[in-house]
Amino acid sequence: MDTDERLYTIRQISAMIPTVSISIADDTATVATLLYDSRKLSDTVHGLFFALEGRRDGHAYIRDAYAQGVRNFVVTHGKVESSAFPGANFLVVPDTLEALQTLASRHRDRFTHPVIGITGSNGKTVVKEWLVQLLSPEYRIARSPKSYNSQIGVALSLWQLGPAADLAIIEAGISRPGEMAVLQRMIRPDIAVLTNIGPAHEEGFSSLDEKIAEKLRLFEGAETAVFSPGYLRGVPVPPTGKQITWGTEGETLQVINHQLLAGNRCRIYARYRGEEITVVIPFADAAARENAVCCWAVMLAMGYEQATISERIALLQPIEMRLEMKKGINQCTVVDDSYSNDLSSLAIALDFLQQQRQHTKLTLVLSDIPGASDDEDKVYENVSNLLKESQVNRLITIGPGLQKHTSQFTFLTHEAFPDTASFLAAFPSLTFQDEAILLKGARKYAFERISRLLTAKSHDTVLEINLNAVEHNLNQYKSLLPPSVKLMVMVKAFSYGSGSFEVANLLQFNKVDYLAVAYVDEGVELRKAGIQLPIMVMSPRPASFDALLAHRLEPEIYSFAILTDFIGALTEKGQSAYPIHLKLDTGMHRLGFSISDIDLLINYLKNTAAVKVRSIFSHLAAAGAPEHDAFTENQLHEFSKFATRLTTALGYPVIRHIANTAGIQRWPQAHFDMVRLGIGLYGIGNEGGQSLSLQPASSLKTTVIQTRQVPAGESVGYGRNGMLTKDSTIATVSIGYADGYDRRFGNGVGQMRIGNTTVPTVGDICMDMTMLDISGLEVREGDEVIVFGDVEKLAGTIGTIPYELLTGISQRVKRVYYYG
Ligand SMILES: *Cc1c(COP(=O)(O)O)cnc(C)c1O
Repeated sequence: MDTDERLYTIRQISAMIPTVSISIADDTATVATLLYDSRKLSDTVHGLFFALEGRRDGHAYIRDAYAQGVRNFVVTHGKVESSAFPGANFLVVPDTLEALQTLASRHRDRFTHPVIGITGSNGKTVVKEWLVQLLSPEYRIARSPKSYNSQIGVALSLWQLGPAADLAIIEAGISRPGEMAVLQRMIRPDIAVLTNIGPAHEEGFSSLDEKIAEKLRLFEGAETAVFSPGYLRGVPVPPTGKQITWGTEGETLQVINHQLLAGNRCRIYARYRGEEITVVIPFADAAARENAVCCWAVMLAMGYEQATISERIALLQPIEMRLEMKKGINQCTVVDDSYSNDLSSLAIALDFLQQQRQHTKLTLVLSDIPGASDDEDKVYENVSNLLKESQVNRLITIGPGLQKHTSQFTFLTHEAFPDTASFLAAFPSLTFQDEAILLKGARKYAFERISRLLTAKSHDTVLEINLNAVEHNLNQYKSLLPPSVKLMVMVKAFSYGSGSFEVANLLQFNKVDYLAVAYVDEGVELRKAGIQLPIMVMSPRPASFDALLAHRLEPEIYSFAILTDFIGALTEKGQSAYPIHLKLDTGMHRLGFSISDIDLLINYLKNTAAVKVRSIFSHLAAAGAPEHDAFTENQLHEFSKFATRLTTALGYPVIRHIANTAGIQRWPQAHFDMVRLGIGLYGIGNEGGQSLSLQPASSLKTTVIQTRQVPAGESVGYGRNGMLTKDSTIATVSIGYADGYDRRFGNGVGQMRIGNTTVPTVGDICMDMTMLDISGLEVREGDEVIVFGDVEKLAGTIGTIPYELLTGISQRVKRVYYYG
């Protein structure tokens, strides 16, 4: 990604996209970087900001981007008064997303080398990364960073093409009819590849065949198409040049069988143009075999000799897909992104690092960039520029190339090591304390050894939280709300067991309007961690009012007693108009003012200047239960009546809210001015109403610590409750009731998953361990065990609710956050 090679003048840009009108204040402006999110502005000087219109209208963030230094904008007609932004250039277009895509497409026109386009339900990113490994001896390859494969991601990927590359590999992902046509027009692949098609028909498509046909549109006009006909269910392939097919039945590359070899490897036998050919891959699982065969077919299509192919495929390296955040030593957080190291993935990882605002100290451990030797000075100058724009304050480099360029990095603390071994040797003398550490190393530098040193030794059980899923679920619920309705998210009980800070930070980044916690302490923790959003505290205690005020937390006021105490505290401190949230009881009968209190309450509030009512709210007792719909309607009616009387009497606007997760989905008329999202954020509670496609966000994992054979007639565990009626194999795993694995899951009620098999518990659950019956399975010590993925079903088996299971997971279970 070389900045200068994509420098266009603003006039050139305006000629590349269809504009309605233009307003150029600065003719000398040049554009190198495309921006669309005011929270992620990398290159403001040469940035071009597209005001995209999603649920939030990007035009609302122009002021923010302008304040940060951006001067070039693409907007739609009538949305912006350009005179309000002196010195800025505005290109006015009919549709900003289309303009972004057209610009990317025009830029792609200038790339005269081959482009490989990859689509499919699974394996796109692995096939892309493997092709990079397989083809890089001959080609300098530009590729989509990570899985940038959407309507926006593809445009940004294409924007990176430049003279530094002579082959491009671009991923294309779709979720709706019509989307592939747009992606195809941008990518125009010379070689189009379909990895596979998953069996489920996705949200947005009326049938599986419709989804297949849409994906196949990527093939239109390609010189070469590579696919497996077995996935197409007879859906016709659009006209293309030559077709190289793979699969088990009479295809061009016909897979005959495979044989597992020692050391987790596998030999695949196939027939190609009448000849028997074979490869060995350093993996054994079915997905890896399929992805490898797909890459094999692509190489054959490109005319590679079989001897070269088998030599390279034998050396394939696994692709670590996640940007994993782990708890490190000495209160550090480690972000492990060491599966590739090039400038574009470095830019993305830095972006990610800066979103995790848990630590003020940001450290980057960076290895030499492979292939940089041709033009080292330029490459490391670009790294230096990236770091100048970032908030990284400590740089540790590994490799002779970066060591030679120390003079580029004088603006931050720089420690340079010639190789990984010398870093490891120096490790005991280095200090790492309360910092976020990003590991970015090319494979040959073996950063996993550094990662191991930096991550704290853990208890074997972890709760993994997929922050992408959390974000996805958030957007699903947002899609049910009109833009005028505000969103409060409940992060009480440690964010339903998932960890408050990380989730709150994600919510802040996504610009929700409010957070709510149960206790003042929880709110104070969030403030200390840098959360600026308004925070409501549901159970404020008079003893904690000082801390509440000091941290700008806003109390829920549910009785005259607490109101009087709070006004007392405010008066003592000489504070006035402090925001409070009034809770009404409309039928839950837990906390809140009664309907009959209203006159007294109005009177009270009108006679004090100490507080100002920010919101008025109530809680639905049975929003998810159709049998109680009449009751819910009555709650809504009472709430609305009470709220109207209060706001009329107070004479200023007050936010009204009553809907929880189930209420958001089932009761559009309950949205009022704000809603309170809780468990739905974790992918739980899809309760009818408008259908949502939620993703499970957390999964509890442990490991097998021992296996043994136990004969029939023996018993397993305390109290001899696990009587064996047959000879059995038993695995002991390291999770027990002290971790939050309920004792009621004992004796076969609970089930865990090992590989693809579900296995029952045997005997009573112990404090730190559980025994499983793994008879007939090949399970080894150290194997991973999924304790739960589907919390809803599991909760049902012991007669409880997902809320209790999630919040019951003990604090000693390590939380691991990742973007999956
Ligand atoms: C917990 C809570 C919510 C969220 O409930 P969910 O069912 O998890 O969506 C909303 N409002 C109040 C007052 C709560 O205590």
